Amino acid sequence: MNSTKISEIEAKRNKILPNFILTNCFQCKGKVVVKYRIPIGEYSKKNNLGYYTEKEEDKDKYFCNRCAFRLYFNEKEKIRKLISSQKKAQHLRAYIHLKKTEFLNKLKNGEDIIWN
Ligand SMILES: [Zn+2]
Repeated sequence: MNSTKISEIEAKRNKILPNFILTNCFQCKGKVVVKYRIPIGEYSKKNNLGYYTEKEEDKDKYFCNRCAFRLYFNEKEKIRKLISSQKKAQHLRAYIHLKKTEFLNKLKNGEDIIWN
């Protein structure tokens, strides 16, 4: 996609939607930034519990990356119970590993980790 196209889309979108929404983690109540994803035309679902559990009652629950790591690495059994879809479990695994790599690279470069 060329940059003109992107800025057109962005201009159209900015009239109705903010670039991100701020919400709170359902676990620790910490801040969660949910970014608007231009390519998919909606807010990111990477930190949305309902996206993974596919349950209506979880659709407004967001988790911060710190809690995602905590759950994923320390409470695998809980995660297994929460997420019944294999596909969604794989999505979460991919996301966690992407973040892990990102964080490790930051540590290697002496940069601070911003959890969200
Ligand atoms: Zn949290």
